[in-house]
Amino acid sequence: MCGQEMDKPDRHHLIPKQKKGSETVDIHRCCHDKIHSIFTNRELERDYNTIEAIKSHPEIQKFIKWLSKRDANLVDPSKMSNKRNPRKRK
Ligand SMILES: [Zn+2]
Repeated sequence: MCGQEMDKPDRHHLIPKQKKGSETVDIHRCCHDKIHSIFTNRELERDYNTIEAIKSHPEIQKFIKWLSKRDANLVDPSKMSNKRNPRKRK
């Protein structure tokens, strides 16, 4: 999704598994986590069932920009969650 090379790609279901979707794409783990932190399964099913649609979302564009300065294969998804709340700064 972000355009970087993939060591160990994850599988993303374009239509969520619960909705009996079977089409998958290979993406980075961190990209995958990001997608699911932004979109609900319903949104993925209805409006974001292509990589192009996902990439057009402003939060994803911000993420791709942020990620472009890093190695997407090495980003630990659990460490990204802190980045989501800039307003919480003390
Ligand atoms: Zn990626």
